[in-house]
Amino acid sequence: MPSPLYRSFDYLPVDSVSAETSSSITVPAQRGIGPARDSQPGTRVLVPFGNRKVVGIVTGVSNQSALSEDRLKSVLAVLDPGPVFTAAIYQVLLWAASYYQHPIGEVMATALPARLRSASDWRPQENLWKVVEGISVQELDSLKRAARQQALLEFIDKKGEVSRDQWLAAGFSQPLVSQLQKKNLIVKYSSPVAGKATAAGFDPIPRNPKLSLQLNIEQRHAVEKITAGLNKFSCYLLDGVTGSGKTEVYMRVMQEQLAAGKQCLVLVPEIGLTPQSVARFRQRFSCPVVALHSGLNDRERVNAWDQARRGHAGIIIGTRSAVFTPMHKPGLIIIDEEHDPSFKQQDGFRYSARDLAVVRAREENVCIILGSATPSLESLQNARSNKFIHLRLTERAGEARPSVMEIIDIASAPLDNGFSEQLLYKIQKHTAAKNQVLVFINRRGFAPVLNCQNCGWVAECENCLTQFTVHAKPPSIRCHHCGSSRQLPRYCPSCKSRSLATFGIGTQKIEGFLIKKFPGIPVLRIDRDSTRGRNSLANLLNQVEKGDPCILLGTQMLAKGHHFPNITLVAIVDADAGLFSADFRGQEHMAQTIIQVAGRAGRAERAGEVIIQSRHSTHITLQTLVRASYTEFAELLFAERQESGMPPFAHLCLLRAEAIEANEAISYLKKVAALAKSLCAEHALAVTCLGPLPAPMEKRAGRYRIQLLLNSKNRGAMQSLLKRLTPAMSALKHSRKLRWSIDVDPQDLI
Ligand code: ADP
Ligand code: ZN
Ligand code: ZN
Repeated sequence: MPSPLYRSFDYLPVDSVSAETSSSITVPAQRGIGPARDSQPGTRVLVPFGNRKVVGIVTGVSNQSALSEDRLKSVLAVLDPGPVFTAAIYQVLLWAASYYQHPIGEVMATALPARLRSASDWRPQENLWKVVEGISVQELDSLKRAARQQALLEFIDKKGEVSRDQWLAAGFSQPLVSQLQKKNLIVKYSSPVAGKATAAGFDPIPRNPKLSLQLNIEQRHAVEKITAGLNKFSCYLLDGVTGSGKTEVYMRVMQEQLAAGKQCLVLVPEIGLTPQSVARFRQRFSCPVVALHSGLNDRERVNAWDQARRGHAGIIIGTRSAVFTPMHKPGLIIIDEEHDPSFKQQDGFRYSARDLAVVRAREENVCIILGSATPSLESLQNARSNKFIHLRLTERAGEARPSVMEIIDIASAPLDNGFSEQLLYKIQKHTAAKNQVLVFINRRGFAPVLNCQNCGWVAECENCLTQFTVHAKPPSIRCHHCGSSRQLPRYCPSCKSRSLATFGIGTQKIEGFLIKKFPGIPVLRIDRDSTRGRNSLANLLNQVEKGDPCILLGTQMLAKGHHFPNITLVAIVDADAGLFSADFRGQEHMAQTIIQVAGRAGRAERAGEVIIQSRHSTHITLQTLVRASYTEFAELLFAERQESGMPPFAHLCLLRAEAIEANEAISYLKKVAALAKSLCAEHALAVTCLGPLPAPMEKRAGRYRIQLLLNSKNRGAMQSLLKRLTPAMSALKHSRKLRWSIDVDPQDLI
C-alpha cells in the first residue's frame, strides 16, 4: 500500500488451510478473502505482494476468485482488531475513488496517517502502574508510617492498573508514585491506549462562556437557522463579509453539538497561517482540541487521529487531508474560507476536500457549514439552486466599520519601485498615526525578470520555459515552478555584456525599499521564503499582534483570515495580474484575493482604508468590486461563465499527459480523444472533448504538458464517460516515460 493500480487482489484468509469454507479477502489494488469476522471492509492486513510484504486493506469478502485456490496466497496477519475506517469514511473513500477516477489503494492510503501504512504497532502508548506481583497489600508493614503511600498502594491494588490521569484525579502526586516505585512495590509499564474501550467523551462545558459575544441580528438568525436542523444532513453557505463574525457563528453551533457530546470537524486552508483560530477554539472550549497540520511528526499525527477516532477530541481542526479524520460521534463539519484553492489537491489523488466534506456530511447525516466572505461560484450556484441554504452576514460585527476602498490609476503616474506618490503619502500618514499598514504584493523574491539591456536576453528556466525570479539571499535566480536555481549571473551569457538589470518588483526588493523610505518603522516580510523556519511565521505574527506601528509586507499568505486589529491601511500594489489571467478562474481568484486582503483593514474601532493600484482603473471587474460588492461581481462572472459554458454551469475534467517529447504526449492523447469520442457516440453521452492542446504552462520540470479538456453540462454523462475511459486509458500502450493524469473538477487549466 499504496498501490497505483486500478484493481484489487484476492487472498486467502489467515488460517485458510484449516478453514472449512475458504473464501477470499480482497485488498485494494488490493481486494481480500477471509474469515468474515476479522475481515470486515476497512480492516488492515499484512499480505505477500510480489516478493515483499505489504499492508493491505480488506475491501470485500467473497467465495470466489478469478484465480484458482492453489494460486492464491494467504493473508499473513490481520493487523487491527477491526476496521480502521469508520463506516461513513469508508463509504466516502469508495465514492471518491470512483468520482475522481483514482486507484482505491492510493485513496485509502491518503486517508490514513503514515504510521498506519506500515505494519508496525501504531497505537499510542500510555503509562500504567500496577502492584508488583506477589505483594499482599493488606499485610504490608513497611508503610505503616506512610499513610499516603499506603492509600495509593491500596488504590492501585483495587483498580488493578491505573493511569497517570487516574492517580492524579484521585489526589495522588508524582513523588508518592515514585516512592512506591523505588520501594519496588509498584511497577510502571506501557500499554496501547487504543486497545481499550472508547473514552467516555469530553467535558461539554465551555471553558469560558464569558467570551461569548452578544450576537447581532444577522448572526443570531444564522445560528437559529442552523441549530434548528442540526442533527440531519444539511448544507449552509455562511456568506459573511470579512469581519462579520463568522467564527462566532461557528462557535455557537459547535457549542450546541459539544454540549450534546458530539464532535466538530473544522477544515481551514492552511493552519500554519492561522494559529489564531486554533487558539480561539482552545480559549473558548474546555474539550480537547486537536490540530492536524504539516508541523506534526508521524507519532503526533497518529495520536491526534486516534483521539478523534475514539471520541476523545471534541474539536478537530485541520487542513485538506483532515477531511478523512474519523470521528466516533460526529456532530458538525465546518469549512472555513471554503473558496480557498488549497482545499483541492493538485497532484496524485486530486480530490476537493470541500466537496468530499459535503459527501461525508451526507454519509454521517450531520450538518455542514461552508463559510467565506468570497464564496466560490460553485457554492454560490449551489445556494442559488437551493442545494445549500444561503445565510448572509452583510455587516461587520461589533464596532468595526467597512473600509473605504479607492483605486489609484497608475497608468501614467510616475512610480518609485511600484509605488505612486499618493500611496507613499498614505503609508506615511498611517504609520505616523501609530497604526499598522499592510502592503500586498503577490510575488516573492526580489524581481520577476532578469534581462540584458544590451541584447535583450532574458533569464529563463529551460525546464519550464518561464522566467527565472531573481532572489536576493543568496543572490540567485530561481524557478518557482520546478525549484531549480543558479547563481546570479554577472554578465549576459548571450552577448557577454555586464549590463544585466532586474525588472518588476518582488517582496524582497520592496522590503529594502520600504526600510529606506520609512526609517524607524519595522518592515515585516511574510512570504514563503521568510517563513520557512518552524516558528518564523508565528514569531512574525506575534510581533504584529503586539500592535506597534509597522509595515506588514507580503504575499497571498496575508489574505488568509488573520485578524489584525491595528491595521488601518491595506495597499494592493498591483491589481492587474489577475485581470488578464490566462485561466478561466483567474478573475474569480483575483477578486477573492483583493477582498480578503482588503478585509484585513479596519477590523476594530479604527476605520480602515484600502488602496488598489491599477493601470486599468476603469476595468469593470475592479470597479464592481470597489463600488459595489463581491456579490455583484459574482453576478458578472456568472453571466460570463454561463455564456462560455464553464463551471459552475458545466463540469470539467482535465486529462493531461506529460513527456520529455511533446509528440509522445500528443499522440497518446489523440488516441484518448478518439476513444472518448467513440464512447460518447456509442453511449449517447453529451460530453465535448477539446484538444489535445499544449497546456498554458507548456513545459514544467523538463516535461511537455499536453491536455485534453472534457466538458459536459451533465455530471452523470461526464461520470459515465470517465468510468469507461479510465480503464481504457490505463490499458493504452505508452512508454514508461509518459505520465498521465485525470483531474476531475480541476481548480485551474494551467
Ligand atoms: P470573520 O471570520 O467573519 O472575518 P471574525 O469571526 O474573525 O470575523 O470576527 C471579527 C471580529 O469581530 C472578532 O474580533 C470578533 O471577536 C468580533 N465579533 C464577532 N461577533 C461579534 C459580536 N456579535 N459583537 C462584537 N464583536 C464581535
Ligand atoms: Zn546580452
Ligand atoms: Zn523550472
